[in-house]
Parts: sequence; C-alpha cells; structure tokens
Amino acid sequence: MSPSNALKQKLVSQQDRIANSKTNAIIRTRFDKVSSEIFDSSNTLSGKTILVKDNIAIKGELLTCASNLLESYKSPYSATVIDRLESQGALITGQTNMDEFAMGSSSEYSIYGSVKNPHDLTKVAGGSSGGSAAAVAEDLCDIALGSDTGGSIRQPAAFCGIYGLKPTYGRISRYGLVAHASSFDTIGILSKNLEDITSAFSVMSGNDPKDATSSTEAVLSLNRYNKDKLPKNVGVLSNDLLSDIDSEIADRYHTVLDFLRKKKVNLIEIDLPYFDYCIATYYVLTMAEASSNLSRFDGVRYGRRATSKDLNETYVKSRSEGFSEEVKRRIMTGTYILSSGYYDAYYSKALKVRRVIKNEYNKLFSKVDCLFIPTTSTAAFPLKNNLDNPIKMYLADIFTVPFNLIGTPSLSVPAGTTKDKLPIGFQIAGNSFKEETLFNFAHSLNKGELFK
Ligand code: GLN
Repeated sequence: MSPSNALKQKLVSQQDRIANSKTNAIIRTRFDKVSSEIFDSSNTLSGKTILVKDNIAIKGELLTCASNLLESYKSPYSATVIDRLESQGALITGQTNMDEFAMGSSSEYSIYGSVKNPHDLTKVAGGSSGGSAAAVAEDLCDIALGSDTGGSIRQPAAFCGIYGLKPTYGRISRYGLVAHASSFDTIGILSKNLEDITSAFSVMSGNDPKDATSSTEAVLSLNRYNKDKLPKNVGVLSNDLLSDIDSEIADRYHTVLDFLRKKKVNLIEIDLPYFDYCIATYYVLTMAEASSNLSRFDGVRYGRRATSKDLNETYVKSRSEGFSEEVKRRIMTGTYILSSGYYDAYYSKALKVRRVIKNEYNKLFSKVDCLFIPTTSTAAFPLKNNLDNPIKMYLADIFTVPFNLIGTPSLSVPAGTTKDKLPIGFQIAGNSFKEETLFNFAHSLNKGELFK
C-alpha cells in the first residue's frame, strides 16, 4: 500500500474510534483540515497524528482551557510547538479535554464533563492532561500534547499506561501555552511509542525568541536517542518511602530494581530532598503565579463578558460566572499569598524553600545519573473520589511536583498493571537537559521485556 493510502486508512480508523470512544477525551476534531496527500518521508513526523490539549493555541481554533470563561475564544495564532510539528509533516487532528486551566489531577474539573480512564470507565484518567493520556491509550492518535506544571502529563500517563514526558523547563517553547504558573509550566509529549516521543521532542525543542525563558542550550540530534544504554548510577527510593505506596506498585518497583541489579546498574538508595515540603511549596508558588496570570481574564480582553451596569460589575460578574470553584479557590488563595501583609510569610519564604530544594537536588544529581521512582503512589482512583477533598487531590502529585519545582526533566514509563488491570507508571528523572539519559534508560527497560 502506498504511504498516502496507509495514512488515509489510519485517519479513517482513528476518526471512527473517536466517534465510538466512551472516555470523553476528545472535545473537538479537525480531520477536515488535514490531508493524507502531503506524505513526505523526508519529514521527521510525516503522517503522525497529533491531538492537542485545549490550553495550547492552534490558529483559528477554539482555545477554551475547558473553562466557561473562554468557551467561545478562538486563538488568532498558533503556539510555536504547533508550527514546528506541522513543518515536519505532523497532522493536528483535534483537541483534548482537561482540567480547567490545567488545575487538577483527575480531569474532572471541566465544562465538558469528566474524562474516563480507558482501562476502566469508572476510574479517572488522571489530570490535568487526562484527555491527551486517554486519547493515546485508546489509539485515537499517535502522539498527544499536554502541559505539565506539577505532574499533569506524567500522572495521567501513568494512570493510562503510556509514556509521558515533562521536558527540562525552557527546553520546549511555551509560546502559545495558556499560562498557569509560568515558572513551572512546560509543554510535553504523550505517546504509546517511545520513538514517537523522541521524534516529537527533537522537533519541538530549541530556542524560541518568542519565549523569553526558552533555553539556548543546543539540541541533540535524534540519533542520540533510543539506544540500549542503561545509566551507571541510579537513585532509588528507600523502603521507608516505599511503605506509603500501594503494595502492588511497590512489588512491581522491586521487580524492576532486580532487573537493573542483574544488569549491573549501581542502585543507590536516596531520600527525596525535603519531600514533605514540596507539595506546600508548589501550591504556595503556583497559586500566587496563577492569580496573577489569570487576572487577564476579566471579561474585557478575553472571552466571556457578563452583562452589567458598570465596568467594575463587568469584571466581577464575568469572572464569577466564568471560573469554576477550583480556579476561584486558587485565585483567591494566590491573591492572599501575594498580599502585602503575607507576601514575606508565604511567597518569599516559598521561593527560598524552592532554592534550598534545588540545591539539594543538584547535589543528588552529582552522585547519580538519574532517579528511578514511582510516578504515583496509587493506580487510577474512582471518579468523584477526590472531588470534595482538594488536599487529597493535591497529594496525587507528590512524586511529580519536585521536578517542576527544580525544572528538571522526567519521563513516566508504563510499567505493567495491577491485578485489576490498572496501569502502573514509573518515572525516570534526570538533571537539566539530560533527556538523552531518560530516553535511553526507557529504551533499555522496554527491551528487557519487563513491561509486556
Ligand atoms: N495537579 C497539579 C495542580 O493541580 C498539577 C497541574 C499541572 O501540572 N498542570 O496544580
């Protein structure tokens, strides 16, 4: 079959699967805007279909962040990542459901309704990029884009049994990503296939003058990845920390550690620095940043405008009607954190703690090539389980937020399932710009047939 016929067939079957999907992962498709005729094998991503989280801008398409406030907002431009992917032959076939403004860990805070886990429709898909993760797991696309501010790619990737990469902060341009917490936000990649992750990563990476925080660090060529190469020294969790983890996940973890020992990898037991402080530090800082970032959604500049008698009422009513409860909670808490009386006690203190955590991780990364730890402490939880308990929802990210606090890359790899057939995921976390170590480690694990 010619490549363009094969592609045509793939597009038809993915479209069919989307129409029959029960997970509520996809909120919009645009198959009418892509063509199977343009297949050109010299392009890195020719014919790869990509679904995009609804907080990443695609020119002329709705960009709602699953919020009432932006319900009818269309983006006048595309994110840099979209332009780069399209220039290498990728086909943007639709947009995925998410937690409103990427705030959440279950993809239940959405005006489009909850995303369901394709492995068990009574469970969450994880969040906030739950739509992207579920879509990949159900073969609705080859690759999905998500954003990861505190775990929003890796946690749903683990819950749905796929790969999910959060790159080094600054490695991939954030231009065109709706900001949640700007010093934490990253755009990342989800796929079932590690080669697709590395290809998309190599296309999306690199300096972008439109994003002032984008790095000028050189981008490695694609042939550096997907090698059978295990790191020498790997930091692993002590039994102490493992005791808080679901026993099936802990058992699986030990199986992988045994495999690594056999392969002569030096496993070094570590404590995750200031583990108990990470969630609190993360939420103080991200809520402060979110309260500032979301002030632009005022009913005047963007999105929904409430009918009202004066300007002040326009602001108040538009925001009150536009945002839902979790987003309001964060805006109010963030505003409080930044208020003059509490700024030093909370915001400035949390910034200092972030620096101390970063220093400790720097020391750790001088001793190990990377860390290998669980992505989550449980498998996917039931729908509605955490909805009335924000703290429980926040704790879902306990193993993922440290790497957003310190800006380093982390890849969640699928690692088999529990006896109830729910996926388990482990994270490979390395030092800044060391994605190569993560990819080659993941490749070697896969070759070990451990996770079949
Ligand atoms: N669950 C975390 C939060 O709600 C992570 C969000 C994210 O990574 N976008 O803040």
